[in-house]
Amino acid sequence: MGKETGFLEFEKVNPSRRPVAERILDYKEYEINYAEFDIRQQASRCMNCGIPFCHTGCPLGNMIPDWNDLVYRGKWKEALDILHSTNNFPEFTGRACPAPCENTCVLNDYYTLDPQEKSIKKNAITIEQVEKHIADRGWQEGWIKPVPPKMLTGKKVAIIGSGPAGLAAAQQLRRVGHDITVFEKDDRAGGLLNYGIPDFKLDKSLVRRRVEQITAEGVVFKTNVDVGKDITIDELLKEYDAILIATGAQHARKLKVEGNNLKGVHYAMDYLPQQNKIVAGDTIDPSVQISAANKTATILGGGFTGADCLGTITRQKGKKKVYQLELVDMVPRPTPAHEETETDCRAGILTEKLIGDTEGNVKELHGVRVNWKQNNGNLVMEKIPGSEFTIKTDAVFLAMGFLGPQLEGLVQELNLNLSIRGQEQLVTPQDILKMLEEKDTMFSIHTGKNFMTNRDGVFAAGDSRRGASLLVWAIWEGREAARCIDKYLMGSTELPSSPQAHDII
Ligand SMILES: Cc1cc2nc3c(=O)[nH]c(=O)nc-3n(C[C@H](O)[C@H](O)[C@H](O)COP(=O)(O)OP(=O)(O)OC[C@H]3O[C@@H](n4cnc5c(N)ncnc54)[C@H](O)[C@@H]3O)c2cc1C
Repeated sequence: MGKETGFLEFEKVNPSRRPVAERILDYKEYEINYAEFDIRQQASRCMNCGIPFCHTGCPLGNMIPDWNDLVYRGKWKEALDILHSTNNFPEFTGRACPAPCENTCVLNDYYTLDPQEKSIKKNAITIEQVEKHIADRGWQEGWIKPVPPKMLTGKKVAIIGSGPAGLAAAQQLRRVGHDITVFEKDDRAGGLLNYGIPDFKLDKSLVRRRVEQITAEGVVFKTNVDVGKDITIDELLKEYDAILIATGAQHARKLKVEGNNLKGVHYAMDYLPQQNKIVAGDTIDPSVQISAANKTATILGGGFTGADCLGTITRQKGKKKVYQLELVDMVPRPTPAHEETETDCRAGILTEKLIGDTEGNVKELHGVRVNWKQNNGNLVMEKIPGSEFTIKTDAVFLAMGFLGPQLEGLVQELNLNLSIRGQEQLVTPQDILKMLEEKDTMFSIHTGKNFMTNRDGVFAAGDSRRGASLLVWAIWEGREAARCIDKYLMGSTELPSSPQAHDII
C-alpha cells in the first residue's frame, strides 16, 4: 500500500494548467505534468483501503491501489504492466476521462475547506493523473512496443469504425492471432479521439502513436472507406468470419425550430473536426470553413461537446461574446474552457426560434426560461410566462447530444434490432425513422450479452451499442466484444474480462 500515513501527510494537489493568456493562443494540451517527486507523493496518498471501491468506479476495473503503490515506490514499468492489463489506452483515459474512479475513492468523502477557492475540496487520489504519468513514462522509456501475436488462427474479422471501441477490439483480437481489418470512413483512424475531442485536451500525436503500434502488431487499417457506401456489407459478410460494428453514435439531436437552417447555425460535429484537421495541417476549403472569429457565438448544450466548442471558439481569436444555453435546469459544469473566457451560461432555457438578416445569416436567438417538474415519474417542462428574451448572435453551435448510431447504410441494410432507451421492446430501423419524425428518441444497436446482434456473426460495441457515452466505456466495450468474438470463432477464449463483465459470457 502507498505510504501508510501518506494521505495524512500530503495534501491533494490538482494538476496545474498553463496560464490562460498563454494557452488560448494555441491548441496544445493545457495540463502540465507533475514533477516525478510530486506525482509519486500524490500516489503515496493511496491508503489501499481495506475494501477499495475505486476499481469498481472504473468500468475497466483498473487495479488502482496496485499501481498507485508501485508509482510511490518508483516501479513504473511494473505499474505500466498492471495498467495495461485492464486498459489498452491509458494515455487517452489519463487525459480525457471524467474519472468516475475518483468519485468512488474513499478519500473523496474526506472533505476540507479550500481557503483559496473558498469551497469544499474533495480529497480523492489524483488517480487519473497517476494513470497519465504511468502511460507517458512507458512511452518515454520505450517500454510500450508492438506485441504481435505468437500464432495465427486464420480467422478474419472486419471492424467497422476506428474509435476507441474499434481500436481496443482490434488490438485484443489481433493479439490472439486473428486477421483484423479496420474500415474507417474518415481519412484518419481514431474516431472521436481524432475528430471530436480537441487537441488542447488530447494531443493527436498520441492517437497516431497508438494506431502505429496496432498497425505494427498486424492490424490493417483501411481509411476513407464508408461501409455501406464504398463497400457493401454483403461483401464483408462473404469475406470475413465475424464483423464488429463500432461506428459510434453520431446521429445528432436536431434543433427543430424556425430558423434552424440559417447561415451560421452549425452542428458541433461539423465544427470541431474542422479545427482538428487544421491543427493537423490540413487545408479546409474556405467556402465550407466554419469559424467563430469576430463573432458573438451561442452554444446550445452544456456537456462535453459544448465545452469543447467553447474552448475552440476562444482560440479562434477576436470573439465578441459567448453564450452557453442549457435546456435542463443545471448550469453547465465548469471546465477549463470556462476558466479561459467569460461565458454567459444559462440553465433551463428553451430556444424558440432563430431570426436571420436579409441575407439569411442568423442574427437573433429567441428563448424562454423553463421550469422542470415531476409528473407521474416523468420530468415535464413548463415555460415561465414573461421570461422570454432575445440574444443577438452571429453564430449558433448545436451541441445538444446524440440520439444513436447512423441508421442509413449499415444498420438499415442489416435490418438490425434496435433498443430504445428505457424500453424493453425492440424495434427496426424503419420504426425508429418514423418515431424520429415525431419526437427525439434515443436508440442503440441491440445485442445479446455476447455482443452479437440479431445477425449471426455480426457484433456491435461502443457508442453504437451503448448510446453516446465515454472513452472508458468505449474501451471496455471493445475489449468485451473482442472476448465474445474470440469465443464465437474459437469455441473458447483466454482474453481477459473486466469485473463489470460478470453477466457476460
Ligand atoms: C466533442 C466530443 C467530446 C468528447 N469528449 C470526451 C471526453 O473528454 N471524455 C470522454 O470520456 N468522452 C468524451 N466523448 C465521448 C467519447 O468520445 C465517445 O464515447 C467515444 O469516442 C465512443 O467511441 P466509439 O469507438 O464507440 O465511437 P467513435 O469514437 O464515435 O468512433 C466511431 C468511428 O466509426 C466511423 N464510422 C461510422 N460509420 C462508419 C461506416 N459506415 N464505415 C466506416 N466507418 C464508420 C466514424 O467515422 C468514427 O471514426 C466526447 C464526445 C464528443 C462528441
